[in-house]
Amino acid sequence: MSRNESRTQAIYQITNREPTVVEKTEPLSKIWACDVFSLATMEENLSKSAFKAMKLTVETGSALDPAVADVVAAAMKDWAISKGAKFFSHIFYPMTNITAEKHDGFIETNSAGAAITEFTGSLLIKGEPDGSSFPNGSIRATNAARGYTAWDPTSPAYISNTDNGAVLMIPSVFMSWTGEALDKKIPLLRSNAAMNNAAQKVLSLMGETDIATLNSSCGAEQEYFLVDSNFANARPDLLHAGRTLFGAQSPKGQQFDDHYFGAIPARVQVFMQDFEDQLYRLGIPAKTHHNEVAPGQFEIAPYFEAANVAADHQQLLMTLMQSTAAKHGFLCLLHEKPFAGINGSGKHVNWSVGNSTQGNLLDPGNTPSENLNFLLFCGAVIRGVHLYGPLLRAVIASAGNDHRLGANEAPPAILSVYLGDQLEKVFQDIKDGVVSTSSDGGVMDLGLSQILNFKRDPGDRNRTSPFAFTGNRFEFRAVGSAQSVSGPLVAMNTMLADSLNWIAEQLEAKLASGLDRAAAVVSVLKTLMEEHGNVVFGGDGYAAEWHKMAVEERGLKNIPNTADALPAFREDSIKKLFESTGVFSPLELESRFNVYAEQYVLSIEVEAKLVVDMAKTIIYPSATACLADLSLTSGSLAEMGIELDTSLAQSVAANANAMLQAVERLSVAMEKHDFASIEEHMQFCATDICGLMAEVRSYADALEGEVADELWALPKYHEMLFIK
Ligand code: ADP
Ligand code: MG
Repeated sequence: MSRNESRTQAIYQITNREPTVVEKTEPLSKIWACDVFSLATMEENLSKSAFKAMKLTVETGSALDPAVADVVAAAMKDWAISKGAKFFSHIFYPMTNITAEKHDGFIETNSAGAAITEFTGSLLIKGEPDGSSFPNGSIRATNAARGYTAWDPTSPAYISNTDNGAVLMIPSVFMSWTGEALDKKIPLLRSNAAMNNAAQKVLSLMGETDIATLNSSCGAEQEYFLVDSNFANARPDLLHAGRTLFGAQSPKGQQFDDHYFGAIPARVQVFMQDFEDQLYRLGIPAKTHHNEVAPGQFEIAPYFEAANVAADHQQLLMTLMQSTAAKHGFLCLLHEKPFAGINGSGKHVNWSVGNSTQGNLLDPGNTPSENLNFLLFCGAVIRGVHLYGPLLRAVIASAGNDHRLGANEAPPAILSVYLGDQLEKVFQDIKDGVVSTSSDGGVMDLGLSQILNFKRDPGDRNRTSPFAFTGNRFEFRAVGSAQSVSGPLVAMNTMLADSLNWIAEQLEAKLASGLDRAAAVVSVLKTLMEEHGNVVFGGDGYAAEWHKMAVEERGLKNIPNTADALPAFREDSIKKLFESTGVFSPLELESRFNVYAEQYVLSIEVEAKLVVDMAKTIIYPSATACLADLSLTSGSLAEMGIELDTSLAQSVAANANAMLQAVERLSVAMEKHDFASIEEHMQFCATDICGLMAEVRSYADALEGEVADELWALPKYHEMLFIK
């Protein structure tokens, strides 16, 4: 046995694993949403009036009568118990990207000592987890640490089946005792409400009379990597940082483009089927899956849903993906850049807004009036991205995503909008005054007929744009694969609300001045494009010329990393945006800045500790073992009068020494704690710590190319990516 037992063992285990057997699965009709306390289940189990009240709340977000909550609680409990649940949990989403749950039993004992079950409306509505260990960004003094959870009736409760039994899960918000949002759900609900209020104003001005509550929709495409657990267990970096901190490039990477949309390996197919069946049971509409660009990389995309439900489902999907992968002997990596030199993972957030009366307002539609509404909403998005680009950059900032943005594989760190040739021309014509409207009777002249004939062209894509119109929605393509979709959705809904409020004001004034609707819309959009058209860009987002032009000529910001991005949360314009729309108070916004900044520093610190540890205890010993072997061999050969070339040994020694020196410098840097502000600390991490980690890595990766293969302890890139 060689001296790198863990790596050899891993390969042995994987190549000798039992062949994959495809399990039989139940038909979709039998399992679809069977573990969800859905409207259909409620209709069966609730009185007519209680059901009507619940349905109204789900559809419009209106408040629920506490008496109805009691009825719902009783029915929910009976349903959950019939499904085998003994516990319930308010599940919530703290400001970090995780999902949190605390389980409580339905059990009560009566005076005779018998177990009875109890679940009232007030237990359903409100829970009190001890919130003190969740980050709050200094909203709460520690002596007032109690936070509480409150039921969100607009996202359905469900049964979570684990090896530990069945638990009734109740989607909830999480707030401080003074009512501040401590989670990712409250702002999402508030941003929806703000968008709805603003959209109602615009649509009324456009002459619509029947306007149902508007909601935002989200369809998220999730990319991920699967690595065999035998390999992962021999890589502390994968286990604790979610990415490789060391590793020389594999001779074969993705250059042949032979993985994208290729045949899915059998083991992965079995994993996908198991995972998707669980999603179906929970009413999550898994729709597509395929291989992604990099070897070992895959994608899953559920069908889009109401943003609040989609966000809950996304969290659940990420949790289930990881637990199911473990069951199948894989580590599922959601990190944005698990392997250097090949593509990282993103999460495209597809987003639109609409309602049951006007439909999807980002869909051009078939009539002139539908098109006018569409142009206004689309214009509102353009204005939003232009004004609040740095906010969109801030909500996707994380230590992991920094490795993608700005590199030539993912959308650049400059926020621009891609409209497609046809729509870009429409907006350009409006800006240039080419589109005019008739003055007699409000009928549009032919200038707008081009919009009427607007056709969706799904083939018309620009993969280099961070924010692209894709026919009936916008696709925010710069979101990181490990991130919650809530932050991006909140930013998009809120910037849209702000723009629609501005549009409503302008439109009202134009209409009051006597312009007909079409003329008023064109006039408002002309102003909008003059002020914000600079953000529209249809060219190559990766090109160096664009990066220069964007910043120097168009005044857009290029924000390469998290340390530079997060301070946007502290800008006056962003505070004003959130306060005026009622989405975040300044205190809540500040707490977000603090939590995200802290998360960033913590992630970099964990990585730095791993780098020091692995370099000293795994890589250096491989190098010295190699030197020891070489010196033994050359000693014996010398006795036989044979002289060995020492250049390899020299190089191994030089790289090992240089690596140790870099490790020493990194250790010293990690000791520094006297920062004037968290901003300064973030900058130090982004430049000094990350720079030193890269330096250590460069020597270690060089050693990997020199040290005898049988002495190298860490599983190599070509093994982790290609052996399944
Ligand atoms: P692609 O890889 O070409 O971008 P996918 O089919 O993988 O497309 O994913 C597209 C995602 O966009 C899916 O989740 C889909 O349901 C979602 N989507 C489609 N229409 C809308 C819409 N109107 N609003 C929000 N999301 C949408
Ligand atoms: Mg996409």
